[in-house]
Amino acid sequence: LHIQAWVIMNIASSYIDRFGVPRCGCPDFNLSTNKKCWGHKSLTYYIANRDSDLKSEVWDSLILDAFNAWSDVADIDFKRIDKQASSNVVINIGAGKDHHFDGPSGTLAWAYLPPKPNYNGQLVMKFDTDEIWSDGSQAGMLLKNVAAHEIGHILGLSHSSIKGALMAPYYSAAVFEPQDKDDIPRIQELYGKPHKET
Ligand code: ZN
Repeated sequence: LHIQAWVIMNIASSYIDRFGVPRCGCPDFNLSTNKKCWGHKSLTYYIANRDSDLKSEVWDSLILDAFNAWSDVADIDFKRIDKQASSNVVINIGAGKDHHFDGPSGTLAWAYLPPKPNYNGQLVMKFDTDEIWSDGSQAGMLLKNVAAHEIGHILGLSHSSIKGALMAPYYSAAVFEPQDKDDIPRIQELYGKPHKET
């Protein structure tokens, strides 16, 4: 079953949580049993825009922390670059229906999943500017937590039904990195264990 990215987005945008509970905009089911992941292990990313709730350098450092949370547990690494056209991951913002958002709470962010095995193109993730984004020093949605979750999608992970997993669809202020139960075995199945120098 091949479902292209635009279909995924249609599903995501039509998904409205009836209680307005903060969550990810991506759908909750496995789209395929095929291993759809990247065909290389060094991904580049580009930060196109940021929400003004946080200073640029704070935003960028939380995004970096979120990428590091994945490279710590799997054989994959990330490098920030200055050219959008050649980047694998584009990090952007948006608000309202045109960007598949729904105002405050509800959908916080969304990301595309690789549309096929050995993907080597470009995928986008977006954060809803109608949320209050936080680094933990003030009230709001913790950007690091939400970014780490969305990066999981970018890497090829769909939502988890395990409560407490980073890839569970609902936001948790307590979960900011891949968890031993579920997230870590899933990502290692796609990319292998990290090669770390100790
Ligand atoms: Zn999600």
